[in-house]
Amino acid sequence: MLRVILAKPRGFCAGVVRAIDIVERALDLYGAPVYVRHEIVHNRHVVNKLRSKGAIFVDELAEIPAGAPTIFSAHGVARSVQDEARLRDLPVLDATCPLVTKVHVQGRRYAKAGRTLILIGHAGHAEVEGTMGQVDAPIHLVSTAAEVDALPLPTDTPVAYVTQTTLSVDDTRSVIAALGARFSDVQGPDVSEICYATQNRQTAVRDLARVSELLIVVGAENSSNSNRLREIGVEMGVPSYLVADGSGVDPAWLEGVDAVGITAGASAPDELVDDVIAALARLRRIEVSQLDGVEENIEFSLPPELRNVTPRAAAAMAK
Ligand code: SF4
Repeated sequence: MLRVILAKPRGFCAGVVRAIDIVERALDLYGAPVYVRHEIVHNRHVVNKLRSKGAIFVDELAEIPAGAPTIFSAHGVARSVQDEARLRDLPVLDATCPLVTKVHVQGRRYAKAGRTLILIGHAGHAEVEGTMGQVDAPIHLVSTAAEVDALPLPTDTPVAYVTQTTLSVDDTRSVIAALGARFSDVQGPDVSEICYATQNRQTAVRDLARVSELLIVVGAENSSNSNRLREIGVEMGVPSYLVADGSGVDPAWLEGVDAVGITAGASAPDELVDDVIAALARLRRIEVSQLDGVEENIEFSLPPELRNVTPRAAAAMAK
């Protein structure tokens, strides 16, 4: 018998739920197609499902026809993208997670106060590009303590930092400590201000790794928070794999294993976790349980124009 233990919480966070909801309601309100700049959240399954309902995903606003409803992804965008949308008069629905927006606001506030801004995050990630482009001041991007040491700034520079929302809480703590050691005047939010969903999923995976011989993280390869969950498993000495769905499960992983832990990144839907459980059930007889963990009940409000949109309202409007 293979014990399958699920982390709690796992999977969708409030920011992802809101972003998907925005695309679905926009489709109800405007009808297909609606245009989404970049993957709405980092999950191919979610993107494909929305595509089948009429969402068109584009890399650049230039690909969007004049006047077409335009949605910004949960990761946020640079100001230049907002300006371009305004210039082109595109009706925009902003699915940027409110916790990402909060980082933008913090960054602008520090820059306005004359501090040199440091962003703790990973180069090339959509959220990092958005945040860098939301502050009209130079930003130094660092992801490790060694990069803090290499910053070309005098030690008495008044600095402030903000963080990508989906980092490893532990790594971020060490980068903040390095900033404190390198600079005499540092301001920034406490690590406990990193997004609640990131923290909860990382705490839960740590608990899960303690009782698992193998850890499976359900999520996309380009999902920052899913990668961090897998890394935590590895750091705790548990063989840990990231899979997109059940087809990613390698039967060889299960040899000699009696307890498999499963968690899911913040952009991975429940049905993909079910798919992984079904794949395990095809290989062995399984018994599924869930670890105790934090109950999440956070909800973010929708843009005002979408609050009263339901499929029924859309049908009535179409008459
Ligand atoms: S992981 Fe956190 S910051 Fe990112 S979308 Fe979810 S709630 Fe928002």
